Amino acid sequence: MARKNKKSLHNTRCPICCILPPHLLQSVAINGESHHRNWAFQTLNLSAQIRGRRDAVGNLFFAPSPGVKRRTIYNAKNTQNLPGILVRGEGDPPTTDIAANEAYDATGATYDFFYEVFERNSIDDKGLRLDSTVHFGVEYDNAFWNGDQMVYGDGDGELFQRFTKCVDIIAHELTHGITQYEAGLDYNGESGALNESFADVFGILVKQRLENETALETDWMMGEGLLAPNVKGTGIRSLKAPGTAYDDPVLGKDPQPAHMRDKYMGDDDNGGVHINSGIPNHAFYLAATEIGGYAWEKAGKIWYISLRDRLRNKADFKTAADTTIKVAGELYGVDSSEKTAVENAWLKVGVI
Ligand SMILES: [Zn+2]
Repeated sequence: MARKNKKSLHNTRCPICCILPPHLLQSVAINGESHHRNWAFQTLNLSAQIRGRRDAVGNLFFAPSPGVKRRTIYNAKNTQNLPGILVRGEGDPPTTDIAANEAYDATGATYDFFYEVFERNSIDDKGLRLDSTVHFGVEYDNAFWNGDQMVYGDGDGELFQRFTKCVDIIAHELTHGITQYEAGLDYNGESGALNESFADVFGILVKQRLENETALETDWMMGEGLLAPNVKGTGIRSLKAPGTAYDDPVLGKDPQPAHMRDKYMGDDDNGGVHINSGIPNHAFYLAATEIGGYAWEKAGKIWYISLRDRLRNKADFKTAADTTIKVAGELYGVDSSEKTAVENAWLKVGVI
């Protein structure tokens, strides 16, 4: 399949892509105890500051080493200075810092996933060095890709645990990097929800492959283990049942829809990028479970080819549906059960 010409990177860079949406932090700011509220405000304010700063960061970390995984882990030592102090490079033995080791291992699992399954050499497919900073800020309740590197907070410990705990969250953030280099999906409205959804899809696929789980065995829950034990919820987003990941007095209720009739139409969260992603997320789940087997092998390949070669920055849900159906037909045949499964999936969520 011919790959379309890439737009210039300058135009396709996504803004700061945080794992936690603003509505969740706003709920904490409204409903939490005073120290919870402080954490939430700090995280919201810091995220806004970083958004303002990110254009100055620049692309400093290109390293032409095809097919070779290169990871560097930095420690911000609870400051907001990026990247911080180098604590572990590629091939170095584990450190005594569990967050640094988790970031190193999960980044490696994500690199291996894309290289071994899709022959993709890092985020840019040219061996980009994968830089991560741990211990960003003080009790910072988020993780994000800033256009150049991954950044992880420690969490406040009462609502959220450290953000390096979950391989799917780390893979989610790195997928934002891939999307930036490929489809470049604009980070608002339906294209933004697709950007979030592709990050969840490949995030969860990295985890499923690590755990050797088929589409029918796995639980399809993003961020399992991220919520502190006393929070009422199992994770931050469910691809199987959007809207059911958490329902907590402080965090509020998971607002994700699973169908177009419940699509969020407001302006918050860049037009609901973390909310309406429930619709394409659920479509992927439906397609993958109807196809069966390991979800990354067929459904994942259909979604990956669509992201890499077909979708561009203004794509909406309908475009994603048409594209994935067409790609499924090209890969497996126009009368294939795989193509039918993808069609059925988008029908069931009301997009076609
Ligand atoms: Zn995201």
